[in-house]
Amino acid sequence: MAKTAYAQLVERDKEAIWHPYSRMPLVQDPIPIVRGKGMYLYAADGSSYIDAISSWWTNLHGHAHPYIVERIREQATLLEHVIFADFTHPGAIHLAERLLKTLPGNMSKIFYSDNGSTAVEVAIKMALQYWYNKNSATKKVKIVCMKGSYHGDTFGTMSAAGRNEFNRPFWGHLFDVESIDPPYRGREEHSLVQLKEILQRCSPACCIFEPLVLGSGGMLMYPPEGLDALIQLCRKHEVLTIADEVMTGFGRTGPLFACESLKESPDLICLSKGITGGFLPLGATACTAAIFDAFSAHTFLHGHSYTANPLACSAALASLDLLERDECTQARNRIGEQHKAFCAVWQGHPQLNRCESIGTILALEYRSEKITSYCNPLSGQLYRHFLEQNILLRPLGNVLYVMPPYCITDEELRRIYGAIITTLEIIS
Ligand code: PMP
Repeated sequence: MAKTAYAQLVERDKEAIWHPYSRMPLVQDPIPIVRGKGMYLYAADGSSYIDAISSWWTNLHGHAHPYIVERIREQATLLEHVIFADFTHPGAIHLAERLLKTLPGNMSKIFYSDNGSTAVEVAIKMALQYWYNKNSATKKVKIVCMKGSYHGDTFGTMSAAGRNEFNRPFWGHLFDVESIDPPYRGREEHSLVQLKEILQRCSPACCIFEPLVLGSGGMLMYPPEGLDALIQLCRKHEVLTIADEVMTGFGRTGPLFACESLKESPDLICLSKGITGGFLPLGATACTAAIFDAFSAHTFLHGHSYTANPLACSAALASLDLLERDECTQARNRIGEQHKAFCAVWQGHPQLNRCESIGTILALEYRSEKITSYCNPLSGQLYRHFLEQNILLRPLGNVLYVMPPYCITDEELRRIYGAIITTLEIIS
């Protein structure tokens, strides 16, 4: 019998492809997706999956949103790409202007790249070169990070997160950083003391953090006050601050940016993922005038071929249009309320260490004997449980999280919650 289109795609994939963050060969056949619409991904056999994690946290308004499709189409007929050294284009200019207006704090310039790791890499290099430009013999070279953080998969961003399970094979090649515990509720003073101790020993160049939620580390949440205190201390000691909003940006925590919940503002902000509504890869690093001015007599020797790709910029502009509509704010508030109501019921369940939410992100940490989070075998068990119910939820070890596109309906949320609740009965 002739193989179905589905089976053929699976076979050809297995012959030719190495998938990211997946043990190869895949334990389970990859699912060939041929179409997306709104909350749903459609496989080659016609089955559909509700995308409860926004396809790696990128999608904001639903798949194949017609408004973004149209803007990209228009741009493609005009200009698909142009070198961004010495040349520019209207989309990049307009997007930079809008981001600068929208971002919290006093951001003055946007430097484009093409993914989250590069947005962070750029921020780190800017911070290091800022001090170098001021004094080429500077001793301000250390980076302070938060334990359990994740900033990307390049060597710089792996280093900047500190040595952890994600980057173990490369430990010998990573540069040393200082680390502090995130300012979890009730532990704010502890983090502050750790930072003070570092500041007594050395004079760091910068401090990098994921504001309010450590994403890949397990959706670990902390309130803004402790971070404000840390930023204040950094400012006092001339340590530049870098907010990695690659995951939290564009409404995930409720407001457009997690840093809007702070009183203080960072010196650099890194953006990617949701920036294009999930359509195309784009990274952006915003910096203050003080940082930019320190480069007046120096070149920042960094750039990527697809810097400020016009198609990506047009998608980002269209996504911003949708994001700024009242209905999008209302949708985010509605999702936030539903998540809170879920937590109010299920917090304290004997199978859970943690059940909490911030904005549109809901996280549940299952009790587990195993400590290493990402490799926890529960992950596969949960993943398959949800796939069987046509729900895409990909846990981080024993941490399950829901981070849907903002077009999700209450009914769809209830379907996801229902599937989660059944795990509390069957998972042991
Ligand atoms: N920073 C944070 C906070 C992230 O969550 C991620 C990706 N999960 C990155 C940086 C790296 O982004 P990318 O995968 O696009 O390189």
